Amino acid sequence: MRNESALRIVWVYPDLLSTYGDRGNLLILAHRASLRGLAVESVEVRSDQNLPAEADIYLLAGGEDAPQVLAAQRLAADGGLRLAAERGAVILAVCAGYQLVGGSFVANARMYAGLSLLDIRSDRGLTRAVGELAGEVDVNLGLPMLTGFENHGGRSILGPEARPLARVVVGVGNDGRTEGAWAGHLIGTYAHGPVLSRNPALADLLLRWATGIEFLAPVDDTWHERLRAERLAAVKAA
Ligand code: GLN
Repeated sequence: MRNESALRIVWVYPDLLSTYGDRGNLLILAHRASLRGLAVESVEVRSDQNLPAEADIYLLAGGEDAPQVLAAQRLAADGGLRLAAERGAVILAVCAGYQLVGGSFVANARMYAGLSLLDIRSDRGLTRAVGELAGEVDVNLGLPMLTGFENHGGRSILGPEARPLARVVVGVGNDGRTEGAWAGHLIGTYAHGPVLSRNPALADLLLRWATGIEFLAPVDDTWHERLRAERLAAVKAA
């Protein structure tokens, strides 16, 4: 039976969007919620299933071009993610997921419509952006340096309704200057890692948004801090 009060986290289309261990974002969120005594229901919704519109957090991950196109088309036809976004549900979209929540993106040398949930559009860079990514996060979000790694051919251009998630210190992100974008409760990023493992404060921000709980009890982040310190030292972004 469903626990009506549980925090519902949806992993969107594991069959299409699942590169670079991004599923770790689901594990990190569920773990950090349960450490705070919050009941969690994790749901994995494949692309041949209906996407529930009433969940609290939606996670979209990276994907190669062809699955990315399919995911965009199926999500548009399904309509559930749009309803969820309109309700103010929390959405974390990584790489291919980030591109497809924008207005349009280029894959396999063609332009495709995105879901237009975030005011960005993506085209293609001259080379793939591959490597470590670090950036100073928008002060409005109150987070420490973003760290992750990136592997994408697309470049993203922000419109006036989206704010950059971070100013690039190392790597490329959107265009070598800014990385990711956010508006309301939707955050898009090029960072894999998984990004919530490398950036537990970002995971907690999503949990605060989703639960409305302003103060989440501190948890032991020794392991995350070691990972962060190691990766930031490796690229000298600390
Ligand atoms: N297919 C997209 C690109 O290459 C996203 C890649 C990814 O998700 N890693 O830009």
